[in-house]
Amino acid sequence: MNILIFGPNGSGKGTQGAIIQKKFGVPHIETGVIFRDNIKKGTELGKKAKDYIDRGELVPDEITVPMILNRLKEADCASGWLLDGFPRNLVQAEALWNALAKENMKLDYVIEIILDRQTSKNRIMGRRLCAADNNHPNNIFIDAIKPAEKDGKLVCRVCGCETLTARADDQDEAAIDKRHNIYYDTTTGTLAGVNYFKERVKVIEVSGVPGVKEVSEDLLKKLG
Ligand code: AMP
Repeated sequence: MNILIFGPNGSGKGTQGAIIQKKFGVPHIETGVIFRDNIKKGTELGKKAKDYIDRGELVPDEITVPMILNRLKEADCASGWLLDGFPRNLVQAEALWNALAKENMKLDYVIEIILDRQTSKNRIMGRRLCAADNNHPNNIFIDAIKPAEKDGKLVCRVCGCETLTARADDQDEAAIDKRHNIYYDTTTGTLAGVNYFKERVKVIEVSGVPGVKEVSEDLLKKLG
């Protein structure tokens, strides 16, 4: 099962991705996570990517495209994958489409979570990461996934982990605006990539406005 998921930063894409991963048992490949792991480990790739990420810009396609296409060839992807955060622009969409055609692989589902820009921005600024598992959703501005409180301190609502952090790039409004400029760009940006797929395959559209549970129910129903 090969699946792509699109949605602006802050639309709940990562959360829905984790739910889909569970349903289909495929690895959840998040470009942003791969980059951040590499930065943490101080790898060459991490060093090359860091400045772009800190500025809220895309890491150049020459670095990102081969990294992802190679990742899809790893053993755990043999029976499928869920790709999240890639493609992020029209060039990457074309590169992926052509690479899949070359390998005779098909796309089973392409999902688009639709959410307006202002709501997405509020949700990003409220996001908190659980140190124990970054798939545990916590957001101080969304009632349904507000962190729990213990001794006056915010803790992960799923596992109670006491280390909840905000990603630096989540608190940087200028960087958020830059990321959204890329996402909502229908000429060369991410929505241009989404439209590229809409011309080729059926794209499953879900509204990101309701709570996590409602969105996932809608999505799972549409996935059949
Ligand atoms: P994310 O965690 O998806 O918000 O990604 C964090 C940052 O990683 C982005 O703001 C970009 O700088 C970089 N990044 C993630 N995915 C891509 C991609 N497909 N192409 C280029 N840069 C990316």
